[in-house]
Amino acid sequence: MTELPSADVVVVGAGSAGCIAALAAARKLGPNQVLLLERYGFLGGTSTAVLDTFYGFYTPGSEPKKVVGGIPDEVVTALAHGEGIMLRPNTYGAGTGVTYNPELLKRVWDEMMAGAGVRVLNHVLLVDVERELDGRVSAAILASKSGFLRVEAPYWIDASGDADLCHLAGFEYEMAGEIEPAQTLTTTFRMANVDLKRFKLEGGKAMMHERMKSAVGLPRTKGSAHDMVIEGCIATVAVRVADVNATDVVALSAAEAEGRRQAFVYEQFFRNQIPGYENARIIGLATGIGVRETRRVYGEYRLTREDCLTVARFDDRVLLCGAPIEDHRMGATGEEETAWAYVPGGLAYDVPYRCLVPKKSLNVWVVGRCFSATHDAHASCRSMGQTMSMGQSAGTAAAMCSTQSTSPEDLDIGCLQEELRALGAVLETPDVVSDVSRWGLSS
Ligand SMILES: Cc1cc2nc3c(=O)[nH]c(=O)nc-3n(C[C@H](O)[C@H](O)[C@H](O)COP(=O)(O)OP(=O)(O)OC[C@H]3O[C@@H](n4cnc5c(N)ncnc54)[C@H](O)[C@@H]3O)c2cc1C
Repeated sequence: MTELPSADVVVVGAGSAGCIAALAAARKLGPNQVLLLERYGFLGGTSTAVLDTFYGFYTPGSEPKKVVGGIPDEVVTALAHGEGIMLRPNTYGAGTGVTYNPELLKRVWDEMMAGAGVRVLNHVLLVDVERELDGRVSAAILASKSGFLRVEAPYWIDASGDADLCHLAGFEYEMAGEIEPAQTLTTTFRMANVDLKRFKLEGGKAMMHERMKSAVGLPRTKGSAHDMVIEGCIATVAVRVADVNATDVVALSAAEAEGRRQAFVYEQFFRNQIPGYENARIIGLATGIGVRETRRVYGEYRLTREDCLTVARFDDRVLLCGAPIEDHRMGATGEEETAWAYVPGGLAYDVPYRCLVPKKSLNVWVVGRCFSATHDAHASCRSMGQTMSMGQSAGTAAAMCSTQSTSPEDLDIGCLQEELRALGAVLETPDVVSDVSRWGLSS
C-alpha cells in the first residue's frame, strides 16, 4: 500500500458538491492542503457526465429571485466567458435553468482547482476508511491502477453522491427505496444535426409531447428535449429505469444496458416522428446512467417535506432552496410518472447546517445528493444550485474547523454565516427580481 501525503481536508467525490467544497476549503487553507478524490478521469460528476443545466439558482414563478451565489456564480461566469450560457425556463415550472456546454465545464473545473491549489486525484475509488476509538475518521483506503493507496486527514467531506464514506465509516442512513420508492435512473443523451427552426415551426415542444403520448413502443409517453448551447444540438431527459438500487453493481450494470437500449428507441422515434429530427443522430450518451438518489445520511437534522412546503426558517441556515419537489417515480398503476409539489408563493426555504453534519460526526460533513433529508425533501433540494451551495458551506466549515481545531458541531455558526456571506452566498432571499432573459446573466 502506497502512503499519500496527508491533507488538512479530504473531499471524496468531485461532483458539483465536491468540486465546490474543495474550492471553498482550499481558498481558505491555501495550496496543497485540500485533496479531492474522484473515481472518474474528469471532474464534475453528474454536472459533466450526465447533464448540461444547473437548476436551483432562481426561484420559480413570475418573480424569479436568485438564491444561490458565491463560488457557484464563478463557475457560471467562467462558462459564460468561454462559450456562452443560456438561461432557459423549465418545461414543468421548476424555474430558470442555466444551460452550459458540459465538456467545457470539465475544463472549467480543472482550471478552478488549479487556481485554488486543490490536489486532484482522478481514477481513485474510496474503498475503506479507518476510524479512531472515538469514532473520528482518520484515514481512507483507495483502489487504483497504481494499487491500493492510503491517505490521512483530520477532516473529511463525503460528496460521493452515494455516501460511500459515511457508509464505510458506519454512519446511519436511509437507502432510497427502503421507505418510499426510489427515484428512477436516466441515461441522458445528446443529438446533433437537429433542424430546430423547422421543429419550432411545426409546433415545437407542444407538438413533440403530443406525439410522445400516442407513440407506440416508446419506453414512456413523456420526456424532455431541449436546445443545447451548441447549435443544432439537443439534450434529453427522457429515458427511465425504475426499481434499481444503484449501489448494487449487478443491478446498476443491467440498468446501464437498459438505459442505452431505451436511448436508441427514442432516437428512432425522434427521427421518424418529429419534424426537424429527420437527419439527427445520437452523438453522446451519459458517461454513466444518471442516479438521482441512493443513500441519504441521517444528520443532526433531517430536512422534511413540511420544511419545504411551509417555507421553514432555521437560525443555522447555510443555503436557500426554492425548487419544487420533483419526484420521478413509478406510479401505483405501474406507469412511470413525476409528482410535483411547489414551494408556495415562489419563496425559498432555509436549509440548516445540521443537514450537512452526520449524526455524532466528529470530523465528517456530507454534501450533495446524499445529504440529510427525507425522500420528498431530497426531491426538492437536489438541484445543482443547491448541491454546489452545500459544498460551499461544508468546505468553508471544514476549513474553519481545521484552522480552529474544532469539530463540526462546535463550530460557531454565526461566524460560518459571515464567511459565507463574504463569499457571496445568499442566505436571505433578495427583494430584487432577477433578469432571466435567455442570454441574461444577472444577480
Ligand atoms: C437524470 C438526472 C437529471 C437531473 N436533472 C437535473 C437538472 O437538469 N439540473 C439540476 O440542477 N439537477 C438535476 N439533477 C440533480 C442533480 O444533477 C444531482 O442531484 C447533483 O448533480 C448531485 O451532485 P453531487 O455532487 O451530490 O453528486 P454526483 O454529481 O453524483 O457526484 C458524486 C461524485 O463522486 C464520485 N464518486 C462516487 N463514489 C466514489 C468513491 N467511492 N470514490 C471516489 N469517487 C466517488 C462520482 O464519480 C461523482 O463524480 C438531475 C439528476 C439526474 C440523475
